[in-house]
Amino acid sequence: MKENVYLIPVTDNEPDIEVCRKLEGFLASGDFFSFIQPRDMVAFKTHFGEEGTQGFVRPLHFKMMGALARQRGGLPFLTDTATLYTGMRNQAVSHIELAQRHGFGYENTGLPLIMADGLTGDEELAVEIPGRIYRSVKLASMIVKAQALVVVSHFTGHVASGFGAALKNMGMGCASRRGKMEQHSTAKPAVKKKKCTACGACLKWCPARAITMTEGAARIEKALCIGCGECLTACRFDAIGYNWSATYEQLQSKIVEHAWGVAACKGGKALYVNFLTRVSKDCDCMSGYRKIVPDIGVLVSRDPVALDAASLDLVEQRAGQPLTALSYDIPHRVQIEYAREIGFGNPDYQLLEKP
Ligand code: SF4
Ligand code: SF4
Repeated sequence: MKENVYLIPVTDNEPDIEVCRKLEGFLASGDFFSFIQPRDMVAFKTHFGEEGTQGFVRPLHFKMMGALARQRGGLPFLTDTATLYTGMRNQAVSHIELAQRHGFGYENTGLPLIMADGLTGDEELAVEIPGRIYRSVKLASMIVKAQALVVVSHFTGHVASGFGAALKNMGMGCASRRGKMEQHSTAKPAVKKKKCTACGACLKWCPARAITMTEGAARIEKALCIGCGECLTACRFDAIGYNWSATYEQLQSKIVEHAWGVAACKGGKALYVNFLTRVSKDCDCMSGYRKIVPDIGVLVSRDPVALDAASLDLVEQRAGQPLTALSYDIPHRVQIEYAREIGFGNPDYQLLEKP
């Protein structure tokens, strides 16, 4: 049995207002929000974009979808969680400030903005899953408490998970700080001494104070490192690297199990929306936006695994080459295949195009 995934196609660089009208027409014509009951608190989970990024899903789409949720009697709100890495999004205060600067204030969305994991990323609840790695996962408490969830994701390439879309937005993006650390714990980078210029940038960015300067080069103390990857971004000299072959599968498998926890705690009261517009080489945490494929459209499904599988296929079809050639050359289908292995969601989909 195949899972339905709906595609609302767009032309390249189509104005956001037109994309929004098309998506509204599609969502309003079906029963996509029928899972919302009166007085349900409905979390719209997205990524507001790190400072200097451009790819994030635009606020007007949330205003439109929030209004549809209200028509069902729901109480919609916008939400995200703190990052592990240092930056404006690693606690609630500057995270909300940045979101507002990116246009996610109430005046543009009509939605209150509530950080799902509290002021400092540590408000969490455990959700039990029958995983291979985890028996329970640590999620942001408001993701668990909200009665309904709409996961709105921007499809991008990703330096560690191959691509980022619904599963990444759920697995990593809905985890508490401890949940995120557990996912990253196996990925410990190392310094390539010959390339290190001792500039010290990585020391300043490391949130765990795990880097010291020893004998003219940076050195990472593995016992302190939480595997957040921040130092890779900070180093401009390619002097820090991961042993990807040892980490990518573990990281992606852990992301998928956390995503399973998110889906499980909603018990079907959820909808998943992927934007295949402004698809970039890197995720919305990274500066240096580079579009890698013409705009494709917006995809909607009740199954995040089917949705991500369809999204990945569409991007590769449109580009005429694998994502590894457009973004990072790392195995990028682990999320989909691992979900299939553990029985989470359905990667077999039927694509239904809605003009
Ligand atoms: S050394 Fe470890 S904890 Fe510090 S920035 Fe790098 S990955 Fe993160
Ligand atoms: S940022 Fe790179 S070059 Fe600078 S100290 Fe760290 S590892 Fe060395």
